[in-house]
Amino acid sequence: MFGRLKRHDRLKPPPLPRELPPREAPLPFEGVLANLVQEPHPLGDAMEAARTDLPRVDNMGVTGDARDLFAVTDRLSAAIQQAFPESLCGAGCSACCQYPVGLFDIDRAEWEVIRRHIREAWTPRERSEFLERFERDFGPYRLKLRILDALMTFPLPVTSRPEGLPLACPFLKDDRCSVYAARPIVCRTFGLYSVLRSGRKESHLYACEKQAVTLNEALSKEGPRIMPPSVNPIRLALVRFLSFKARLIPLWVWQDFPRDRG
Ligand code: SF4
Repeated sequence: MFGRLKRHDRLKPPPLPRELPPREAPLPFEGVLANLVQEPHPLGDAMEAARTDLPRVDNMGVTGDARDLFAVTDRLSAAIQQAFPESLCGAGCSACCQYPVGLFDIDRAEWEVIRRHIREAWTPRERSEFLERFERDFGPYRLKLRILDALMTFPLPVTSRPEGLPLACPFLKDDRCSVYAARPIVCRTFGLYSVLRSGRKESHLYACEKQAVTLNEALSKEGPRIMPPSVNPIRLALVRFLSFKARLIPLWVWQDFPRDRG
């Protein structure tokens, strides 16, 4: 039923079962690979490694090895990018940092990684420039953001964004992430994976609209649409680290980097 991978096909999505009509529901990538692979495939290998490593991770961004959730996730994300070179995600695109992430909330556990990065990897001058920019852009919305945070109805509907609030994440500087090594899991996975939401039977692309269109076209080229690997196992691993105290990013910044202390 499934063809064998040829060597020159290794960096392309694997060929798809011919019997399925093009309009059939998308196939999960995991299922395609499980039935298909009779010789090593880079993405298959990366998925297998992640499957082994994810249940054992015990830190985020500290050890940089198979015990590090960020490192394990990054390795799988890199393999997906390699397998789908048509993907728009990568250096030069910051679309997903633009909107509405000025309002996105993260758990204390992931914030701690960013906080440590700002304290240890940034120079005092970088910190003070950031805080100046941050106060200029977000300061006028402090009260409104506090109220929104207290409501905690995430994800916040687009309409609840205070008029004039910056669209971009506070850490986006000159179109680049200024906390790249410490960025949260959502930033490491968005645009590259599929997601199965609770109560749903079918997974969906976990991507911005532009990337979803591009990736869908690439994934449909050779037959029925297939879905990239699922982000769900990564999210499950992340849950083990969470403190279940989430706040909007600007509120974490105000709490831990008050302007007068820098
Ligand atoms: S933390 Fe970095 S990667 Fe994530 S939204 Fe902000 S700027 Fe973008």
